Amino acid sequence: MGNTPHVAIVGAGFGGLGVAEQLDHVPVEVTLIDQHNYHTFQPLLYQVATSLLNAEDVGAPVRSLFRHQDNVTFRMATVTGVDMPGHKIQLKDGTQISYDYLVLAGGTTVNYFNTPGAAEHAFPLYTLMNAVKLRNRILERFEATDRDPALIDDGALNFVIVGAGPTGVETAGALSDLFYNLLPRDYHQLATEKARIIMVEMGKEVLAPFKDNLRAYAKEELERRRVEVRLGEAVAEVGSTFVRLKSGEEIKAHTLIWAAGVRANPLADMLGLPQGRGGRIKLNPDLSVPDHPEIFVVGDLGEVTSDGKVLPQLGSVAMQSGEHVGRQIARRLHGEPGQPFRYWDKGFMATIGPWPTGLLCLAGRSPGATERNAEQDRNPVELGLVRFNPRPSRQNYY
Ligand SMILES: Cc1cc2nc3c(=O)[nH]c(=O)nc-3n(C[C@H](O)[C@H](O)[C@H](O)COP(=O)(O)OP(=O)(O)OC[C@H]3O[C@@H](n4cnc5c(N)ncnc54)[C@H](O)[C@@H]3O)c2cc1C
Repeated sequence: MGNTPHVAIVGAGFGGLGVAEQLDHVPVEVTLIDQHNYHTFQPLLYQVATSLLNAEDVGAPVRSLFRHQDNVTFRMATVTGVDMPGHKIQLKDGTQISYDYLVLAGGTTVNYFNTPGAAEHAFPLYTLMNAVKLRNRILERFEATDRDPALIDDGALNFVIVGAGPTGVETAGALSDLFYNLLPRDYHQLATEKARIIMVEMGKEVLAPFKDNLRAYAKEELERRRVEVRLGEAVAEVGSTFVRLKSGEEIKAHTLIWAAGVRANPLADMLGLPQGRGGRIKLNPDLSVPDHPEIFVVGDLGEVTSDGKVLPQLGSVAMQSGEHVGRQIARRLHGEPGQPFRYWDKGFMATIGPWPTGLLCLAGRSPGATERNAEQDRNPVELGLVRFNPRPSRQNYY
């Protein structure tokens, strides 16, 4: 690499890709490291889990993404630590990678909040493997009950979803379509109408970040689609055939889908840097790490702020924070001062499921709006139902 500055990026999620792409045509060598050789499009994992999409549809090979960017080298490896004084990354295979600039973009991991039995029995939805495992579980339970219908009374077709945020709501809507519209066509002997979807949420409403009218509408629409919405309830324990709520009630269920929360990747704990809520690494306004100007953190792993407000863990935040850090590294090379990160909030959306003419979606905007967004908010677009056409084909569950 000679004297060319070397930028190491840990994580090929939205944040890591944003940095690497921004460094195209910048005189640096980039090593992009990820434990998988594909980028996962997390927002569509629920569609893999519910057989709407194939795994390949949401996993893009990282090498192909950078086929035309010569200064990026991909390395498939698991990072186990960072020697910050020595400017070296440690890999699981025992090797090390030196860096001039390090960008940490390792994302999050599931947080079970120490719920007994959750780590052993729950089905999380954060990685592609999680989604495939859940899809297989759902179909396997339908096959098992088709062979032995007595399993229905044991809860084999009861699916509990923990968490009524966007992931929980989208998964519930998609399961409803799968259970009550699609699978009945193919399971001629099975009483598929006996399948239950039970959504358990500790808070008092579904889709907490959305407007009041949209929350109320979402709940009503889920119930219309036969999702049992249980608000103000928390899960106390999970077993292989039951879910016990804090109220003491026990629900017979063989499958619990965990959509209730995340925690920063364990890399954040290993580094000994100051951490905020959910273990996110605290950052300077330009997204560098305090006392380590050569280290940046982007996306879910960091406590990314804009105008002093901590931003939610979203794909758009990860992407924009990655692009920002790419620009900051380029500025450093030119001896220019760092700039604070400013988020451009394009809004967010949740999909409840199919609608006769397309998909039924709800849209909203993040709390951490910048001044540019405040301008938009004075002339708000009426955010409400968005109907897409045509409805995607649904043939992938074999
Ligand atoms: C089910 C689900 C649905 C979502 N829906 C939406 C949505 O609709 N809209 C939205 O804006 N956001 C959504 N999000 C959030 C969004 O996906 C995240 O905010 C975004 O992916 C964060 O990007 P990131 O780059 O920080 O981390 P990630 O995308 O998680 O990428 C982290 C990368 O780091 C790699 N990695 C981790 N540890 C190591 C290690 N030790 N060594 C090497 N590599 C490592 C991982 O393999 C991964 O590729 C959703 C998230 C989930 C889980």
